[in-house]
Amino acid sequence: MNVSRNSKQFFTTQLVDWHHTANDRSLPWKQEKDPYKIWLSEIILQQTRALQGLPYYLKFTEAYPTVKALAKAKDEDAFRLWQGLGYYNRCKNMLATARIIAGELKGKFPQTYEGLLELKGIGPYTAAAIASFAFGRHNAVVDGNVYRVLSRYFGIDSPIDSTEGKKEFAGLAQELLYKNDSAAYNQAIMDLGATVCTPASPKCSDCPLQKHCTAYKQELTTLLPVKVKKTAVSTRYFHYVLLTSGDKLWIRKRTESDIWQNLYEPYLVEHTHSLDVTTLAAHPSYKALKLKAVPEYEGSLKQRLTHRIIETRFFNAPVKKGTQLPELQGEWVPVSALKNYGFPKTIVSFLEKKLYF
Ligand code: SF4
Repeated sequence: MNVSRNSKQFFTTQLVDWHHTANDRSLPWKQEKDPYKIWLSEIILQQTRALQGLPYYLKFTEAYPTVKALAKAKDEDAFRLWQGLGYYNRCKNMLATARIIAGELKGKFPQTYEGLLELKGIGPYTAAAIASFAFGRHNAVVDGNVYRVLSRYFGIDSPIDSTEGKKEFAGLAQELLYKNDSAAYNQAIMDLGATVCTPASPKCSDCPLQKHCTAYKQELTTLLPVKVKKTAVSTRYFHYVLLTSGDKLWIRKRTESDIWQNLYEPYLVEHTHSLDVTTLAAHPSYKALKLKAVPEYEGSLKQRLTHRIIETRFFNAPVKKGTQLPELQGEWVPVSALKNYGFPKTIVSFLEKKLYF
């Protein structure tokens, strides 16, 4: 890449100017100086779009207005508020970090990029965001929006998911940072990527960088940024057997290191492909229940995660009075109390349809 100093200066100046005159992206965490709220918003927004994350941010800041309040939260309550956002490890790490900050660090966030990086669940992007927005430090943020704007404007085709590419973009972002107001610059580049230099159909005619933008001049916007890895999407097939007895449903907590860790679910039979009533009834995990009745098909739902599709089928299996189930690691919960438990989004949708919620 051979970029003139003028082109870099133009980039920074135009960007900051656009931020002060035309950037009308309004989100409640913008202008925020409280490191707790910045951190919370950044954790919620990892792998989540701003509009989807917004109600979660509002719910969390209302329930837990300070890091000390979050540290005192019961895991169950926090997971329930998180329900629907996915990637539950984020919530788990967030609670662990809140407890370290409230305890060992006496409620104070570290004020440097390096200090923030030492905390669990805080990576380079979040550390730079907190350091610059809360403490005015000169650390450039690099997220998907920043990669896109930089690769297009400067015409860089180094893969953004390669070690070399990451280093190159991080170095350039740091070099371009407007030191008089790092927070404004960081906000500006992220907002420009989110609202103008969008992944599909960027609004180049509204862009303050158009005059010197390489991708615009050379018609490369659809080719940049470049990624090396194409992520394979695999499908998992979950069959939920709804064991019911009177007004109670049997559920268990997913404790394994897998998707939906710490959330609840009915009795699960996972298989390499989809099962129907007959093949499910013959499956060893179903047979282990020693139920006399054949399961009844209730419906199916599909959920797409980043690298995975979860195909879920639900089956009814009422347990007759006096039936001896094998010892199961779970609990019988009255249907009216199910709303007090955290479930994955797919299960919530199904239970809602069944009017359990
Ligand atoms: S001119 Fe178009 S491609 Fe270039 S930075 Fe602006 S929106 Fe992105």
